[in-house]
Amino acid sequence: MKTGIVYDSIYLEHRIGVHVESHERLIGIMNYIEDKKVLDNPNFKLIESRKATTEQIKYVHEESLINEVKDASEVARMTGHIQNLDMDTAVSAKTYEASLSSVGGNLNGIDSILEGEVNNVFASVRPPGHHSNSYKCAGFCIFNNIAVATEYLLREKNFKRVAIIDWDCHAGNGTSDIFYNGSENGEVLFFDSHQDGRTLYPGTGFINDIGREAGLGRIINFPMPPRAGDDVNIIFFNEIIAPVCDEFKPEFILISAGFDTHWTDRLTNMGWTYQGPANYLKKIKELAKKYAKDRILITLEGGYEIDKQAIAVYNCLQVLNNNNQLIEEKSKESDKDVLNYVNNKVIPNLKDTLKPYWNCF
Ligand SMILES: [Zn+2]
Repeated sequence: MKTGIVYDSIYLEHRIGVHVESHERLIGIMNYIEDKKVLDNPNFKLIESRKATTEQIKYVHEESLINEVKDASEVARMTGHIQNLDMDTAVSAKTYEASLSSVGGNLNGIDSILEGEVNNVFASVRPPGHHSNSYKCAGFCIFNNIAVATEYLLREKNFKRVAIIDWDCHAGNGTSDIFYNGSENGEVLFFDSHQDGRTLYPGTGFINDIGREAGLGRIINFPMPPRAGDDVNIIFFNEIIAPVCDEFKPEFILISAGFDTHWTDRLTNMGWTYQGPANYLKKIKELAKKYAKDRILITLEGGYEIDKQAIAVYNCLQVLNNNNQLIEEKSKESDKDVLNYVNNKVIPNLKDTLKPYWNCF
């Protein structure tokens, strides 16, 4: 098994002052990988980025959004001051270039998989993307990396069925908006687990948000109560993701990976450990083996405890590369109330809601 790691120093040049979505996040990941000598192992390969074309960005974004980012970067360059697009999303002089390369790094990752150089990829990129919709950058995100990657597979690489799994702690509202009515170019299935929108930004992603038209039944939200531990996403996988994918048979699995579900994360209230995402990934990998010729590309979204995130990413790299020896901390199981709520309310409600669209329910 060969695993690609996408990285480019341009990702550090999106510098937005004192901000939790800092370039230090990537430095933390890359230093940790270097300490562990991951890239000395011939089973891992460094993949460089390229700039996605504006035509590719337009697969999912309006031209006005692209111009807004480009112009704000230019103003930042001329004035030496970062420019705000909304209350928490900012642009520096190199943001436009870094954002094109963030998308392009993901596209290079896909190409490496399709050309057989690697089996799967972790794209260590920023700025992140899953809160940006067709017309608005939001929530620290600029271009929606995972959405462009999806359309790239459908439009340029002839794929018919792509599944996106978003395990960032915040709902991937941008990705959900973009594919809410489906895609004209193929079938897109979006699984989004996140801390319940009544308790966390962006306040979306409820069970009855299930898509419309061609997207109907293909937007699948799993809102988790605060304090949910690693075990809760395994329930989501076993009860919902696995049976739906047995029907959908995804040809490629894309993952929006946030590491802000960690129990120490400053922005959220979940109970995951740093081995939690990797254990979830093991399950997803079985699906990819069954239906998608092992094809998985993971793209980095959020995660704000730099040291914990680095370990969690390292663990995911091990799983991608078929090494199940993880760095583990004491497991935190969800408490009884959380498990009762998930098993007796969230899962049955979700199955009922999805019943008309999937035979498995
Ligand atoms: Zn997040």
